[in-house]
Amino acid sequence: MIPLSVPNLKGNEKKYISDALDSGWISTAGSYVARFEQDMASYLNTAGAAAVQSGTAAIHLALLLSGVKPGQEVIVPTLTFIASVNPVAYIGAFPVFMDCDDSLNIDCDKLEEFLKKECAMTSSGLVNKSTNRVIKAVVAVHIFGNMADMERLKALSEQYGIHLIEDAAEALGTFYKQGKYQGQFAGTIGDFGAYSFNGNKIITTGGGGMLTAKDGSALEKAKYLAAQAKDDPFYYIHNEVGYNYRMTNLQAALGVAQLECLEDFIRIKEINYDYYENAIAPMENFELLKFNLNARNNRWFYSLFLKNHGLDRNSVMKQLKEKDIETRPIWQLAHTQRMYENSQAYFIEKAPFYWNRVINIPCSTSLLKKEMDHIIQALSRI
Ligand SMILES: *Cc1c(COP(=O)(O)O)cnc(C)c1O
Repeated sequence: MIPLSVPNLKGNEKKYISDALDSGWISTAGSYVARFEQDMASYLNTAGAAAVQSGTAAIHLALLLSGVKPGQEVIVPTLTFIASVNPVAYIGAFPVFMDCDDSLNIDCDKLEEFLKKECAMTSSGLVNKSTNRVIKAVVAVHIFGNMADMERLKALSEQYGIHLIEDAAEALGTFYKQGKYQGQFAGTIGDFGAYSFNGNKIITTGGGGMLTAKDGSALEKAKYLAAQAKDDPFYYIHNEVGYNYRMTNLQAALGVAQLECLEDFIRIKEINYDYYENAIAPMENFELLKFNLNARNNRWFYSLFLKNHGLDRNSVMKQLKEKDIETRPIWQLAHTQRMYENSQAYFIEKAPFYWNRVINIPCSTSLLKKEMDHIIQALSRI
């Protein structure tokens, strides 16, 4: 079976893990945690970063630090992994679902229309007129590593006074090549950026995440909340309800080694994307979705678009599976998941269209040319 996406551990992973083991510091206090945070901050060109247990934890902390309270609302895309949404519910707040555009990222036209027509600025903040709840933040997800339209998202969030949280779980290494945010990385433009190092992400720590913040004091607060909000380390005084979200030294040792390989991984992802794209472009039935031209995208996942609307997505996946090729549909849309089916969803039209017509094809950095040829040949026969 050619897997969809597997980790590439050919760098200094073993060396740093053994070093961490030899040091005896395997929990959250070891030196690799601080080193991984520094390495991420210097790669991303941010003042700091907070290493946590998962991307989900990073999003949860970002929402808490944005001041989201129970009973308030957060705007989220429906086309995303469920972890972009669930932390809203952890807080007892409510998601409001937005559609995607043709890049699969949040539709800024609809977002603007929603903010303008459906919301009112009040003394307690932006209020959703249909629910009477305060809207505190918007979560923008860089789907499959493709830069969302941060110029518009930032302008809208500022105009309407809501926090902008970037779910950059899939987009480590994506940055603007031009425009207002030239040189800036996905996850460093909004108020908060959340990254994930889950097993299938572009770099992995087995499981883990990282939070960045525009405001240095928010980042310090994130580290405090992630470490059980301990105010006195000897008498164990806690003045707030905290979380056990800190990353361990073993995870961080993996992270340091993986981050050293990130640029190589992106180069491979670019080369493989171009190889697929050249071969798929002439096909009648398929097309690879493009990445944002203004950005150097990390090209984490490749989206195969079923151009021929007569093709059935599940049957295409089944035919590929019979040829030992693993593929995956886009996540079940969040607004249709059982726990959110009564939530507000604002004119969701494109998301179901793409959900039905896009599958992800193998994209590991260890993919061999002969494996890509096999995949291309299988596609050409459908
Ligand atoms: C992977 C992912 C997350 C969650 O990251 P974990 O580290 O698995 O908690 C959140 N959002 C998106 C879009 C993701 O792909």
